[in-house]
Amino acid sequence: MTLSIEWPCVALADAPLAHRTTLKVGGRAEWLLEPDNPDQLREAWLMAKEQGLDIRILGMGANLIIDDGTLPGVVISTQRVRRTFRPLEPGQTIQPDELSEEEAAKLLDIEAPAIAADDPRLIVWAGASLPGLVRAGNELGWSGLEGLIGVPGTLGGAIAMNAGGRWGDIWDVVDMVRVLRADGEFEDIARADGNPGYRNGGLGDSIVVGAVLRLELDNKLQVAERSKQYLLEKRAVQPVTESSAGCVFKNPGGAKAGNPNSKKISAGQLIDELGLKSLKRGPAQVSELHGNFIVNRGGATGSDVFGLIDDLKRAVQDMRGIDLEVEVKRWR
Ligand SMILES: Cc1cc2nc3c(=O)[nH]c(=O)nc-3n(C[C@H](O)[C@H](O)[C@H](O)COP(=O)(O)OP(=O)(O)OC[C@H]3O[C@@H](n4cnc5c(N)ncnc54)[C@H](O)[C@@H]3O)c2cc1C
Repeated sequence: MTLSIEWPCVALADAPLAHRTTLKVGGRAEWLLEPDNPDQLREAWLMAKEQGLDIRILGMGANLIIDDGTLPGVVISTQRVRRTFRPLEPGQTIQPDELSEEEAAKLLDIEAPAIAADDPRLIVWAGASLPGLVRAGNELGWSGLEGLIGVPGTLGGAIAMNAGGRWGDIWDVVDMVRVLRADGEFEDIARADGNPGYRNGGLGDSIVVGAVLRLELDNKLQVAERSKQYLLEKRAVQPVTESSAGCVFKNPGGAKAGNPNSKKISAGQLIDELGLKSLKRGPAQVSELHGNFIVNRGGATGSDVFGLIDDLKRAVQDMRGIDLEVEVKRWR
């Protein structure tokens, strides 16, 4: 039963979640909380903790599969915690919709006042969109984020997952991350003290509330040109315009079956080679473009997608003896 609670932020009871994910499947949340800023996020988190409720953090839902039915407890969405600041020069006017430099500095420990305009740092809250940050890099002529073009998500989700690919990972440009720890305190983690790995930001249960990104001053045209090129390459191999949750499985490692000298095989190649791209459960289908993506052709349910993942795992195990590990996050 949903309790009546005075939340310190926008709160929706029995909230539908499917449209808050890129795969567009899943049921409802007992509570969906939408704080506006890092302090409100902390207050909401503390209150949920006090009530003894399960807490889950939702970014853009771009790497997430949610099951049907109702998730007990709270889902805290970071999508309103989305501001991005540039350190200001002395005397520079503050945009009316921005916090003062002292306020921004207080929130993320940037020295105030003032850092030179050619300082290519961005102070970003967790819910800022990754595609928006890539665009900002392009507009400023600062390089470092263009390799993340075509990766949907929020900054917080990207840092938590260490999102990236062949042109680099988000942690390559992280100077400092501010997290909300499991004891309810904020902590600033410098890049040198972070421990990111393959698709894992190494932050455990901590919640990313913001970060300072350090990009490189570059030539605007060249940054834009690289972004364009990377996007073209990505579009050729990934179903970026369809509803999906990104890669479903981790790459298994090891050599191609029967040839120990061959290169490591990716999960997508394996699924392709085994002829499993035709697998589907209702409108949930393996993408024809990339074997490691499941796409929702319209109206798929959580159980269709979870069932299809099980079918793929079983088939790969039976045919090649490989136990594929699921990379995408699953809420059930
Ligand atoms: C078409 C497509 C292409 C993609 N291509 C790539 C790619 O090339 N490379 C790549 O790495 N990924 C890729 N992805 C996956 C996805 O874009 C990334 O994993 C992205 O970082 C997810 O961010 P999000 O905000 O949507 O996180 P969500 O999906 O909302 O959450 C993912 C996980 O992170 C946690 N989380 C979210 N926000 C926070 C936070 N603030 N603090 C702590 N934990 C948090 C959630 O609880 C959950 O466990 C792709 C996805 C799609 C749909």
